[in-house]
Amino acid sequence: MNVNGMTRLQLYPSLKRTSRGLQFAERLIWPRTIGTALTLLAVASVLLQQNAADWLWALLIINGLLWPHIAWSRVVSRKHHYSCELSNLRIDAFCAAFWIPVMDFNLLPAATILAMLSMSMISIGGFKMLRRACVPALGGAAASVLLHEPQWQPAPSLLIVIATLPLIVCFPLCVGIVSHRLAKDLNKQKRSLQVISRKDGLSELYNRAYWELCVSDMYQRLKTSNDTASLILIDVDHFKNINDTFGHTVGDEVIRGLAAIIRRNLRSIDITGRYGGEEFGILLPGASIKEASKVAERIRVATAITPMCTEHSVFCTISLGVKEFSSDYKTHKEWITDVDEALYNAKHNGRNQVNCAKVA
Ligand code: GH3
Ligand code: MG
Ligand code: MG
Repeated sequence: MNVNGMTRLQLYPSLKRTSRGLQFAERLIWPRTIGTALTLLAVASVLLQQNAADWLWALLIINGLLWPHIAWSRVVSRKHHYSCELSNLRIDAFCAAFWIPVMDFNLLPAATILAMLSMSMISIGGFKMLRRACVPALGGAAASVLLHEPQWQPAPSLLIVIATLPLIVCFPLCVGIVSHRLAKDLNKQKRSLQVISRKDGLSELYNRAYWELCVSDMYQRLKTSNDTASLILIDVDHFKNINDTFGHTVGDEVIRGLAAIIRRNLRSIDITGRYGGEEFGILLPGASIKEASKVAERIRVATAITPMCTEHSVFCTISLGVKEFSSDYKTHKEWITDVDEALYNAKHNGRNQVNCAKVA
């Protein structure tokens, strides 16, 4: 559906991402270029001994030197990059198998070409890709038999052995490097996805789901140890008024400012998350209710005296509930419910204060 003749991608350019097919084809440029050039060397050594016809030499040069460029320009010029690259791979298989009867089944280069073809197909798409390559490979071999009428001369000469060695040595190295790079990229992407899925975009603190997961982990640990920990829940007082008076952008600035104040007042082992709109949760490992209340009071005072906006004079206060772990809790949710109750009491008793509920 279009709006004013604009497509979805024109309306939202951020949705654009590099085509999956183009990235896929890009990864195969070097293995294909090196693989076909080294295959050319091995096949040429056989053709040289056979005094092969000119058309075979012409085909070899086209396949060995020009095909990688043709393959790439095919992908770039087509709309469906991915399926075009798949058809390039089928052509790779056709061409590789074509040279085997042409070489009169010379064992060393023939086995090497088949092994390298299988290795690259498996590294690209597993056994499924290898199976897909079988039909064009059989087609390539059949076409070659029809055009060339091969003989059976399996024994390689020293020249053929030497000319095949670069393919044996260099091509696996090239495939290894490409696979390693891919694994590294995937790992990097995985790590950044993990960070994104844990963080809240506005406050840059953990999101509620991850914070609760940490509370749950801590709860499980405390259940079986003599350690303690405390939770603090914070809510901005009359935050709706700030939004209504100064607008949501200023409201957002307040959320970011408060997150920064909280961060400044905590240890590195404390875990803070944005619990809701303008609510924050803090998990303080090892802290008794007394120690946690001191931290809560420090954050309360720091918030009350800190201007929250650069453009307007915006000050705000916060209410805080504090609750220490108790072995009576059946789940970590009970602990969170209790600290929420303490926060409610702080609101109810007049706001801008810390409420320390007694240990259950
Ligand atoms: P109270 O003292 O009882 O907490 O009063 P309050 O006005 O703060 O009430 P409440 O906590 O229910 O208000 C939450 C408001 O926070 C409502 C919503 O419009 C606002 N809010 C929630 N998320 C965001 C946000 O990401 N940005 C901004 N600017 N406002 C938000
Ligand atoms: Mg609230
Ligand atoms: Mg509030």
